[in-house]
Amino acid sequence: MKDRYLDFVNSPFGMSIARSLGLPRPEVLRRYRADHAEFGGMAAIGAGPSPALFDDLMAVLSTIGMTSVAHESAAGWLPVAARHGAMSGRFEPRARDALASDRADRVEALIFDATGIVESGQLHALYAFFHDALRSLAKNGRIVVLGRPPATRASVPAATAQHALEGMVRSLGKEARNGITSNLLRVADDASFESALRFFLSPRSAYVSGQVVTIDASSAAPHSWTTPLAGKRALVTGAARGIGASIAAVLAEHGAIVTGLDVETARDALDQTMLSIEDASPSNGAHAALVADIAEPEAPGEIAAALIASGGIDIVVHNAGITRDKTIARMTDEMWDSVIDINLLAQARIDDALLARGVLRDGGRIVAVSSISGIAGNRGQTNYATSKAGVIGRVHAMAPSLRPRGITINAVAPGFIETHMTARMPFGVREAGRRLNSMGQGGLPVDVAETVAWLASPGSAGITGNVVRVCGQSLIGA
Ligand code: NAD
Repeated sequence: MKDRYLDFVNSPFGMSIARSLGLPRPEVLRRYRADHAEFGGMAAIGAGPSPALFDDLMAVLSTIGMTSVAHESAAGWLPVAARHGAMSGRFEPRARDALASDRADRVEALIFDATGIVESGQLHALYAFFHDALRSLAKNGRIVVLGRPPATRASVPAATAQHALEGMVRSLGKEARNGITSNLLRVADDASFESALRFFLSPRSAYVSGQVVTIDASSAAPHSWTTPLAGKRALVTGAARGIGASIAAVLAEHGAIVTGLDVETARDALDQTMLSIEDASPSNGAHAALVADIAEPEAPGEIAAALIASGGIDIVVHNAGITRDKTIARMTDEMWDSVIDINLLAQARIDDALLARGVLRDGGRIVAVSSISGIAGNRGQTNYATSKAGVIGRVHAMAPSLRPRGITINAVAPGFIETHMTARMPFGVREAGRRLNSMGQGGLPVDVAETVAWLASPGSAGITGNVVRVCGQSLIGA
């Protein structure tokens, strides 16, 4: 569904009306386009004492073609840049009276290495950096703070200070506006954060802000960054339309061969979706449509049999979901049971069948679609919110047991995404859902799809048991 307000206030006429009436003007988010460079421009670097990730950070920035300048808090950056043969200058804070329209002195990203912070007094370095640098960040710019998982720190003051980073990052996301995102990566000792850093610097993460992602040490298989899913097979449930159709398309763009699953009544739409994916990402007909109702007891066996026939699977995306909204006093047994069954129990039945029979290969990826309703709760959605909170619980509970096989399991929790589901909402509820977030607008199915593709990629081997909200930093459940 079109967001007419966003279009209007960004038109030449609407812009002047919005300015004179003091109306909020949500930014047109810059999303990934194959015909535009994914990365570029300059990153300003800040740091606390003893930053541990400068070398790895420099290596990633050089590979993706970003240049850098060092804030005075990051004195050690210039020698690291020199060692990597990269040019780097000193960051000059943007003058307070600089013209708002002047883009010449803007940077595309602010990156702060907080890994060496071991007590809360040292958090002042974050204040100093963002105080000086936030005004220099371009529209649609990126803030990434690199920290450590608090539970891995040796002392209480260190764990406390590392946890404190969360409040800083989330507040920056709310202050920055202009399509700027702000996220925290908790990088365990010896973990590779390249996949996460690329995602959070990229326009692919346009609607992901205020998130905290933990990255464990892992051994990621070598892979291409342009088609990271080449040679992988993926199953996407609920692929006929909406978010599922977009997930199937984006996984295929990243190189995967996709089996899209949906119910009999959606057969035509599913065939259309899979045909258009075949046109856009040719696989010589290997992308497949699979008709099954995941509520049926025989579905897991049928799905496993179909996937065995095509040689097993590497990526499972549990996207199919339904709503049957009513306040609990008015909710029927059927409304409760069907939502819990399709949104939660069916995911478990399918995973059990695929794991028990070895259909999901070692090194595989499971991504389950939850919802911010499962984090915040929602009036009229006791069934839906319970099912989606259960999805998160399952991800947390299963991650450790899958680790020995190199299989990761994560959840994405969309906020307000423009689909059939949200188009059916009453006007007032729909407008509130759209605007009450740091981006002032709803997300698109592709925003969820890009996040799924990132979690499904070989480079994300160290990311498991995480929940990533794709909600533009919605105030709901924040
Ligand atoms: P949608 O209703 O447009 O699409 C859901 C798809 O799942 C449909 O194609 C449907 O036929 C399929 N499906 C439903 N029951 C099935 C079953 N028993 N077996 C097989 N397929 C089945 O919904 P959407 O907005 O694209 O949502 C996709 C997922 O994202 C859902 O899990 C939903 O709960 C979640 N989500 C959506 C939003 C949003 O704003 N749209 C927000 C949070 C979470």
